Amino acid sequence: VQVLNTNRVYVPNIDFHDVSKMDREMGDFLHSILMTNGGSPGITQQPPSSSTGMMCSAKPTEVPALPHMVLSDSSKSMLSARGLDPVANERAIAKSLSHIDEWEWDIFQLDQLTGGLPLAILSRGVFDRHRLFARLGLEQDKWETYFNKIEASYRLANPYHNSRHAADVLQCINFFLTSGRLGIILTDIETLSLVIAAIVHDVDHPGRNNVFEMSTRSELAMIWNDHSVLENHHCATAYSLLLKDPSLLSSLTSSQKKELRETVINLVLATDMAQHFDLHGKFKAKVHSMGGIDLKDHRDRVMIMVMALKCDDIRNPARIQTQCKRWGELVTEEFFLQGDEEAKRGLPISAFMDRSKQDVPKSQISFIEFIVGPLFQSFSEVLPEVNVCMKQLEINLKMWKDLQKSSSPSSSPMSTSLTP
Ligand code: AMP
Ligand code: ZN
Repeated sequence: VQVLNTNRVYVPNIDFHDVSKMDREMGDFLHSILMTNGGSPGITQQPPSSSTGMMCSAKPTEVPALPHMVLSDSSKSMLSARGLDPVANERAIAKSLSHIDEWEWDIFQLDQLTGGLPLAILSRGVFDRHRLFARLGLEQDKWETYFNKIEASYRLANPYHNSRHAADVLQCINFFLTSGRLGIILTDIETLSLVIAAIVHDVDHPGRNNVFEMSTRSELAMIWNDHSVLENHHCATAYSLLLKDPSLLSSLTSSQKKELRETVINLVLATDMAQHFDLHGKFKAKVHSMGGIDLKDHRDRVMIMVMALKCDDIRNPARIQTQCKRWGELVTEEFFLQGDEEAKRGLPISAFMDRSKQDVPKSQISFIEFIVGPLFQSFSEVLPEVNVCMKQLEINLKMWKDLQKSSSPSSSPMSTSLTP
């Protein structure tokens, strides 16, 4: 962990059992999140041709003001189809959408108001928020149909990897785009790519991780040859739905379409946690290199988008306390379902996936201390607005430690701070 926290190195095969702060169970847990047997192809990031220092603006545009949010007819009919009162809920949903720039925004509330399908409505809200329909000449009703199809392809039965998680990540992306420089430095196509990547990044997730897919030789593992199995599947699913209606992208030039596809693929593949230390290490090395990040260079901006999406994908432990606890429980329940399946198949049960040995605080503490905290720390060097999440992360870490202490007084040899 000390080596990984430097900006020097990428170590592809860490022996987690050697790290003095971790016990064997924590090591196994992090191993199962971060490693895959097959390795993964990585994202393409050649060194930039020139570097002129950090955070100079490539495109001096303003992030538009938050528009008045109104539900479209298709959203209203969707609410009616779910037995919800479109008039009463419309007002409450519009109110929720009018707060999407705030860090404390509550996805669980929108989830409830939309009958458990918040992603399509939020996607339309975020497209509106950044005037993506107007800026790129996209046909709104066609895109709303696409959002609905994507949402329908997320599996409601998953406690964690359903469209609520995608919506949560999308709102985090919106927070980054509106609260600081990210929304100003990205081009129109880059903003579109980042927003689409957040929307689709876990579509049709089966609720089991890559290691499970590979060890059970699933159909998906066979199709994708054990390489970033789920992430490849998410991308392919999203693009096959996108290409079913050629009018979705008809206003873009062929070079814009090419850039959009490349960027969305790069971003979604980068959410494979097997690449976590590689991408994090490269980012730190770049930030601390002679020229730093060059915001005039598309490749450096892609690196920032990769980090933004990665941070947002694992941002749930930095949400306000009630939400953080709820996410911790949901992700744990999904882990347990995988553990149940492993037991049924006679496979060894993965660390923290055995429901007979519940220790939610311990898994959350490990995840925050070894993965989320260091990642946010690095990203905050480039985007200072990340600091709001760092503060909440410290509060939540303490909450999990208190919970751990109250359930088992003799445990946890770990430090109490995220900063080295
Ligand atoms: P993704 O599958 O794209 O959402 O990648 C993020 C991965 O990080 C998840 O699959 C989980 O393995 C892990 N993760 C996210 N949130 C938590 C959490 N609160 N506790 C433990 N692991 C988490
Ligand atoms: Zn995700």
